Amino acid sequence: MSGVRWGWLRHLSVGGQLFLSYLVVISVGMAIVLLGVRSLAPTFFAQSMSHMMGGRMGGMMAGIMTSAMANLINQAFHEALASSLVVATAVAAGVAVLASYVISQHVANPVRRMLAASRRIAAGHYSERVEPAGSTELSELAESFNQMAASLEETEQRRLALVGDVAHELRTPLATIEGYAEGLLDGVVEPSEEAFATLYREAARMRRLVDDLQELSRAEARQFSLHLQAISPHHLVETTTARLRPQFEEKRVQLDVSLPQHLPTIWADEDRGAQVLTNLLSNAWRYTPSGGRVEVTARSIGDFVEFSVRDNGVGIPAEHLPHIFERFYRVDPSRSRAGGGSGIGLTIARHLVEAQGGTIRAASAGPGQGSTFTFTLPVSR
Ligand code: ADP
Repeated sequence: MSGVRWGWLRHLSVGGQLFLSYLVVISVGMAIVLLGVRSLAPTFFAQSMSHMMGGRMGGMMAGIMTSAMANLINQAFHEALASSLVVATAVAAGVAVLASYVISQHVANPVRRMLAASRRIAAGHYSERVEPAGSTELSELAESFNQMAASLEETEQRRLALVGDVAHELRTPLATIEGYAEGLLDGVVEPSEEAFATLYREAARMRRLVDDLQELSRAEARQFSLHLQAISPHHLVETTTARLRPQFEEKRVQLDVSLPQHLPTIWADEDRGAQVLTNLLSNAWRYTPSGGRVEVTARSIGDFVEFSVRDNGVGIPAEHLPHIFERFYRVDPSRSRAGGGSGIGLTIARHLVEAQGGTIRAASAGPGQGSTFTFTLPVSR
């Protein structure tokens, strides 16, 4: 019932509702004061008069005061009381209305500003922020609103950067395919085995890139399922290195595994763990020339097992180290691209390790000094 009767209130703005509620509270307060004064003041006045008459001076006054005088005093008191109540009520009402308006605006303004900002964000202006103002709760609301806006802005920037990066990455193989296809059509390029091999290689590179992108988008959105279970670090390292060993032998890069006899079991997803290790080993293989050496080690540190892949290959200049886990980041784009690298592998590896509760980092003493990639996975409890 009350919902129906008070329903119209919902159509008022926050400021309007506050203003109205202040007015109601003040009016009720004033009505009580008025009624109280009007009903109690004459009694108190009469009491006070009879008290005065009872005193030493009062006895003298009672002697000279006639009942007509007493009536006159009573009437004067009532008139004075009524006039002062009218004036006081008028002044109080005016001040109350003004104060209610100022306070309700003070509360409603930050809400209004947030409303306007949220509308601008919805329209795509992600740089919009609001100044924290008003009560503690409203300031906190403004701060979390700003955080939300910042993360929306970041997501949008990442989306734009991704679209730009993908377009850039696809352009190179597409340009090659287009050039060859055009040359073959015009008869400028001989339909040789070499020409078809190039076309095939570029198409394969594009497919690899698209596969990597799909994997990256899943990893970035954390849209992959993790089957966490207790697994043996020995098993993880040995099965992965066994799979990649032929590739290393073919390139004549020595692959050594050196694990301590006892390592705690880890709590991880076996396939994802193997994917990370495979990625680091493939990179080590790619960036280590023939005759080089790659070593896989592991050790137990606190609640984690730390895996390391160390190579004595091309190394990474110090200024590139902080960036190599970023999407599409390559130290030497032409060399990496020619080797089939998309600059996404380490980004995916980082997401996979972090999703399993671990960390990943890279170290290198500089160009030609080799690199070491280290990641941790939590120990099973
Ligand atoms: P890519 O597919 O290009 O190898 P990654 O994300 O796996 O992409 O690696 C990013 C960049 O980090 C590579 O382009 C390369 O420059 C550098 N990098 C990764 N691993 C190594 C390594 N073992 N030795 C030297 N540089 C490496």
